[in-house]
Amino acid sequence: MIQIKNSQQIALMREAGRITGEALLVAREHIREGVSTKQLDTLIRQHIEGRGAKPSFLGLYGFPGSACISINDEVIHGIPSDKRILREGDIVKIDVGACYKGFHGDSARTFAVGRVSEEAARLIAATKESFYRGMAAVKAGNRIGDIGYAIDSYVREQGFSAVRKYVGHGVGREVHESPDVPNYGTPGRGPRLCEGMVIAIEPMINQGSFEVRQLSDGWTVKTIDGKLSAHYENTVAVTSDGVINLTEVEIGE
Ligand code: MG
Ligand code: MG
Repeated sequence: MIQIKNSQQIALMREAGRITGEALLVAREHIREGVSTKQLDTLIRQHIEGRGAKPSFLGLYGFPGSACISINDEVIHGIPSDKRILREGDIVKIDVGACYKGFHGDSARTFAVGRVSEEAARLIAATKESFYRGMAAVKAGNRIGDIGYAIDSYVREQGFSAVRKYVGHGVGREVHESPDVPNYGTPGRGPRLCEGMVIAIEPMINQGSFEVRQLSDGWTVKTIDGKLSAHYENTVAVTSDGVINLTEVEIGE
């Protein structure tokens, strides 16, 4: 069932979203060659806890970190580790959630470590743009399929592919609520968007095939062909004033 939020609940979710967005900003400031994904995870946890919130992902389905940190051909759900060290030219995806007064925010960004290839930079930019194409389709009366169609048709034009196995979702008292928000779809299909819905739109965009596989660690998801993947996510609310991006904090990437 889709949980509709009232304006007070959306105000709390704005705060959860702000803490989530700030945690990504803190991480971005520390991204450089030689830093481990565990160090980034610790900084994220300290920021979230320092703001009186809890990391949404810590312990969620048994996940051991506060953030999912995935490098290069890893798509999502990378486990923070002191053995995973960032290298010049890597692209790193950080996916984080914060729970504040019972409500969650969920957001992800892809960051370049130093100078990256032109193709990697193009993938990161297209993934961000695809999020905005999807968000532009969020209007009361439109349907979930309009969002996915907007994302998928844009990334195809760019020569990339949208992951199908993992999707966006409703957000609220749970990090993952109904409905699913796929990054592909048919216009005019799926649940209708209405005031009070809060959803995470999160294109996961691959340089090559959209097929992915899960590693034996039970978490990390990689592209099947070893090519790069990028991720861009915000939690957005449908309100009478239009769509509000709850996790945006001007982080510029
Ligand atoms: Mg996320
Ligand atoms: Mg999400």
